[in-house]
Amino acid sequence: MSKPKFYLTTPIYYANSRPHVGSAYTTIVCDVIARYKRMCGYEVAYLTGTDEHGVNIERAAEKLGVTPQQLVDKNQQIFRDLWKLLGISYTNFIRTTSPEHERAVQTLVRRTMARDKDLPPEKRSIYKAKYEGRYCIYDNLYVSDTPEPANCQICGRPAELISEENYFFRLKAYEKPLLDFYRANPQWVQPDFRMNEVKSFVEAGLKDVSISRKTIKWGIPWPGDPEHVFYVWYDALTSYMSGIGYGEGDIESVRHGASSASAEKGAPSGGRGSSPSALGALASEGLSGGRGFSPGVSSDASGVLTPEGNAEFNKFWPADLHMIGKEIIRFHAVYWPAFLMAAGLPLPEKIFAHGWLLFEQEKMSKSKGNVAYPEPIVKAFDELTGAKVGNDALRYYLLRETVFGQDGNFSREALITRYNADLANGLGNLASRTLTMIDNYFEGVIPELGPANDAMEENAAHLIKSAITYYDRFQFSECLQEIWQLVSLADFSLAHEKPWKQITEPNGKELVGPLLYRIAAAIRVVSVLAHPVIPDATRKIWEQLGQTDDLDDVDVKQLQWRGLIPGTKIGKLEGAFPRADKKELSERIEKMENEIRNPGAAVEPSARANKTDASIEPAAASTAAPSATAATSAAAGAAAAPAPANAKITIDDFAKVELRVGVVKTAERIQGADKLLKLTVDIGDEVRQVLAGIALAYAPEELVGRKVVIVVNLAPRKMRGIESNGMLLAASAGADGKPVLCTFAEDIPAGSKVK
Ligand SMILES: [Zn+2]
Repeated sequence: MSKPKFYLTTPIYYANSRPHVGSAYTTIVCDVIARYKRMCGYEVAYLTGTDEHGVNIERAAEKLGVTPQQLVDKNQQIFRDLWKLLGISYTNFIRTTSPEHERAVQTLVRRTMARDKDLPPEKRSIYKAKYEGRYCIYDNLYVSDTPEPANCQICGRPAELISEENYFFRLKAYEKPLLDFYRANPQWVQPDFRMNEVKSFVEAGLKDVSISRKTIKWGIPWPGDPEHVFYVWYDALTSYMSGIGYGEGDIESVRHGASSASAEKGAPSGGRGSSPSALGALASEGLSGGRGFSPGVSSDASGVLTPEGNAEFNKFWPADLHMIGKEIIRFHAVYWPAFLMAAGLPLPEKIFAHGWLLFEQEKMSKSKGNVAYPEPIVKAFDELTGAKVGNDALRYYLLRETVFGQDGNFSREALITRYNADLANGLGNLASRTLTMIDNYFEGVIPELGPANDAMEENAAHLIKSAITYYDRFQFSECLQEIWQLVSLADFSLAHEKPWKQITEPNGKELVGPLLYRIAAAIRVVSVLAHPVIPDATRKIWEQLGQTDDLDDVDVKQLQWRGLIPGTKIGKLEGAFPRADKKELSERIEKMENEIRNPGAAVEPSARANKTDASIEPAAASTAAPSATAATSAAAGAAAAPAPANAKITIDDFAKVELRVGVVKTAERIQGADKLLKLTVDIGDEVRQVLAGIALAYAPEELVGRKVVIVVNLAPRKMRGIESNGMLLAASAGADGKPVLCTFAEDIPAGSKVK
């Protein structure tokens, strides 16, 4: 019998920098779901990958003196290596610079245009028009459709003026279909309050969106019009389909096919079938002709969803779950379904937008950066405990500590505390004591339970049920709490009945045997239920219990406490979770993190003197493409340790500081801050918002038009809640340090390098 399918995706991560703990969080959550679904009998396709196009990649590569392709080749490998380290059981990895993805994006747009070709131009989903507006290069987001200055609604930075001929997607025409769809599928976006946000956004009215760019070179060329490259979001979202084989099927049928194919086959009934025969027929329905979109779809009679997809695509699409961070919900819950509707393809079943992982500033701040990386955590745990526990430690902490869906806090201290309490002293200690006693008292053979009717069995049965319910609802923290109830219960039995004393009594074995069976059976249940979250340790314990089935394939829904067979010979004993020394481990992690931030310079934590006040900035938990990664990587860059004061620096150190000529466009005072001015400064290819502490020396109106020198690669930071993105150079004059701005006597264009 064939298994039911389950297809889930992480965001396709933007490959302009290395992944941080936020991206790891999303990927781990998806891995837990993938493993759980496999244990429920599903055939799982699990897609992750890297989004490798866009202006941020171009710029990052330019800064490093490499080609964009070289940069993404290197970075995507860092992602893969990390997922390997974290035991991520993905089945598909898509790179948006791969030829198969390129073909898929072009195919999707061709398919969309083919469907519309018999419609009057003003009804077609994709059309060409002049675009003038403001665009945020950090979030790859069209901020406004007018040329007036505007700040990005995500990052707050001033947006760039763009004027060019673009391909547009007629998103406006999808307002009604989208709202109808949300109404018919009120659970489509989770958590519920996010569904409401999405609805309100669409109800407020949609604007058509540009889906091509002329100014960017690093992208997928538009089919038949290669001067244009695809807008990064259209490109990135399509990876959810290209990653499982869209575009690898019969593409010719799309390129030429709608008319001839529909003549041959006629239109399918049901309307949402998507074979080429449907293209012409559906096109005549117009854009919002009540096609009744709903997630999930049955394919046409032949069982083929679309000829442009290969067998894998036709089996797994639509996705059962897109897991994303909340900052990219609009793209996934508004744009993406509209793109799919326009192409006549079925929509994903569910979108879950989780919260951000925030980074706690440690109280005893040794001036650290605020971005945590997963590798040091895993490696430091492994090294210091001498066991492969780091992966489980991180996974357990992330799922246990944060209520999934809401924002969470990441703290190294809490991570180690959690490890020692729940894993080392909790499950690890329980398993090790119990198995050692079975080894010592029963020659390593699981004893009989005997005839007793047992409360533990009832407890376990109840708990298995509720753990499954929690997993199904993605309530991971509650789920783990529930599972660990059984650990506590077993611990309590040991402490209360003291088998090490009972065994010395004349009928010791009769007393202790059933007790150890009960506890071992509980441990077995825990290792199955916790396996999706802590795969390494549960496998170890499973084998020590003498279980021979592959734990990955154990059917969680058939799990029974009595599944432990008396007489089973236990395996070789080995502690699952050695204790970790908090101080030593914390220092090791920090040292390794510093090496990542500041490669080549092994700086001791105490010697680091800078401090980023960006700790409140969310290091984006996920990024199906560009969004918050720019801010995150900037913060990471800022965390690099500076040279000690007065020490000589090399020319290379100096070269790290990017100085440019800027022209002040606007200047204004900030209420409540008598020294600060808020400026917008044109630095050639963009306009930056910069705060400067010069209000006592300069009036705002005398600054407009003035040439200044600006440090452009300084990490953005917030002052008085306002973001400053760059720094003005000024001399500090006299005893009171009056600022005097650096400027130029000669005429020099904005954006010129200063070196
Ligand atoms: Zn922005």
